[in-house]
Amino acid sequence: MEIIDRIVEKLVEKNNMGNYPLYETGIRDALELLNTPVKPMISDWCPSECPTCLEDFHDYEPCDDGYYTRAYNLERCPNCGQKLKWYD
Ligand SMILES: [Zn+2]
Repeated sequence: MEIIDRIVEKLVEKNNMGNYPLYETGIRDALELLNTPVKPMISDWCPSECPTCLEDFHDYEPCDDGYYTRAYNLERCPNCGQKLKWYD
């Protein structure tokens, strides 16, 4: 929570917008979602995909004869920053 507080503080400093409580709530919600681990979408013959931005992880999953090596050590989506949960 400390990091979120600091980010919001900085944004509020830079934006003297009258409606900043709404802005703050939006940022908090977004950061909380980003930091809540989500299971990547895994299907046979395809690289895994981020459930949030739908970017696939082909750069991180070497493919040999159609079998993808899953990027189990990828803690976050490289595109949107979504925290990932590979195991239940
Ligand atoms: Zn993503």
